[in-house]
Amino acid sequence: MKKTDKPKHIIIIGSGIAGIAAAIRLSVLGHKVTVYEANSYPGGKLTAFTKAGYRFDMGPSLFTMPQFIEQLFDVAEQPIANYFEYKKKAVVCNYFYEDGTFFSAFADAAKFAKEASTTFNVEEATVLEYFKQSKKKYDLTASLFLEKSLHKTRTYLSKEALKAVFKVNSLGINTTLSGYNSKVFKDERLVQYYDRFATYNGSSPYQTPGIMSMIPHLEQYFGTYFPKGGMHAITNSLFELAKDCGVTFNFNSKVAQITTSQNKAAGITVNGASVSADIVVSNVDIVPTYRNLLKTHKAPEKTLTQPRSSSALIFYWGITKQFPQLDLHNIFFSKDYKAEFDAIFNKKTVHNDPTVYVNISSKEEPTDAPTGCENWFTMINVPSNEGQDWDEIITNARQNIIKKLSRLLGEDISKLIAFEEILDPRTIASNTQSYQGALYGASSNNKYAAFLRHPNFKSSIDNLYFCGGSVHPGGGIPLCLLSGKIVSELIEAKS
Ligand SMILES: Cc1cc2nc3c(=O)[nH]c(=O)nc-3n(C[C@H](O)[C@H](O)[C@H](O)COP(=O)(O)OP(=O)(O)OC[C@H]3O[C@@H](n4cnc5c(N)ncnc54)[C@H](O)[C@@H]3O)c2cc1C
Repeated sequence: MKKTDKPKHIIIIGSGIAGIAAAIRLSVLGHKVTVYEANSYPGGKLTAFTKAGYRFDMGPSLFTMPQFIEQLFDVAEQPIANYFEYKKKAVVCNYFYEDGTFFSAFADAAKFAKEASTTFNVEEATVLEYFKQSKKKYDLTASLFLEKSLHKTRTYLSKEALKAVFKVNSLGINTTLSGYNSKVFKDERLVQYYDRFATYNGSSPYQTPGIMSMIPHLEQYFGTYFPKGGMHAITNSLFELAKDCGVTFNFNSKVAQITTSQNKAAGITVNGASVSADIVVSNVDIVPTYRNLLKTHKAPEKTLTQPRSSSALIFYWGITKQFPQLDLHNIFFSKDYKAEFDAIFNKKTVHNDPTVYVNISSKEEPTDAPTGCENWFTMINVPSNEGQDWDEIITNARQNIIKKLSRLLGEDISKLIAFEEILDPRTIASNTQSYQGALYGASSNNKYAAFLRHPNFKSSIDNLYFCGGSVHPGGGIPLCLLSGKIVSELIEAKS
């Protein structure tokens, strides 16, 4: 990367994965970068804890598109092997259905199609065609809608933009994901499998548009991976890289205000002091960024009041037994997916038969649990926090989850839980300031959602930028890394 001849002092508020990615890129460009983080540790949602001999990744557990992490080491001209290692998974996820169906989703597309045609009522060719269409949608839209600001005119003046406009009807934006899947597949179980991808950005398959059928492409084409040392190794390695690039981190430093002067960002106030900067980047969720840090500025109410994505309820369980039928990622589907999403997004509560996701990192990293044991990250999708009685919801959900897992695994799980910690929307919000504890900012439950996300900049305040899961492109780790990239490119283009 070419160094700038006009180095600036850039403050980044928050050391979530997007904040660290932006910090690395801006530092490599030659800017002085200082990060202020409210917590005593980096990574935000991408963190971990160890207790009673069990290690748990607390937040993200599915790692796709490692190329965006590789890119950060490339721009920093540092060998990734010195910091970070990861391996590809042959089996993406094991699926358990209430009717006793078991399906192992292989990473290899041909193997996946073969397994699907033996398990479900489907031709291999139909499955392979679905993946082909999934790739087509991704190729047509990713470089445009995910890798560039959606809110800059120049984004639309490219060949890619024209191509996407001409093919807009084939993108599936006028149907829902479930509507699209039901047209392709007859077998309800396979429809449920493909509907599940709506949850990758915290949405409902019955509301999110059919273009989300591009998401399986991320798993099937780019693959899923496991970082050596677990997901937390992503935070640790990027934190080390950022420091080696010259980024300064200040922890236990909750920023109170973004200061402005003549419609320009001027710095921040933190720990009772003012710190000046040429540029400020907020990696804080966009709602508290406006409500707490930009109190004197008019907030974009339409954007901030968009319905939130789902949140999560997680039981971190130390399990005193090993289950050979389980892998790193395991899904135990609900019987009635429609009722489950109706509960989450319309009734704002939790269905009594939720889909349960069990992540077991000790399958890959045996030291994550004592000998003969497993560390179960047991998660269900729940609504964001709107003041529900979470204690009651948790008590009921715990019982229902245990009953379901015990039924499908043929073993009383309750007797095997040696250790338990719980994370719910309230604690997700208090740990990272995510509005209502939503995992991905606003939901993508309508076809305009991407355009309704907050841009990565603010037209009325110069030198103020935003990155992270609650702004464009929004979503999980890969998109957070991309939002860090977009911010660095916007700053580079201006200087
Ligand atoms: C349980 C769970 C499971 C998930 N599963 C997956 C998954 O499998 N795959 C995937 O890709 N994604 C997953 N996600 C989503 C993923 O974790 C997020 O998209 C991503 O980590 C968000 O990163 P971010 O940069 O937006 O910032 P965050 O991680 O939200 O961090 C923001 C940071 O800003 C700090 N901050 C806030 N306010 C202030 C302030 N005033 N001053 C200073 N600092 C402040 C916070 O302390 C925090 O460290 C999951 C999330 C959760 C919670």
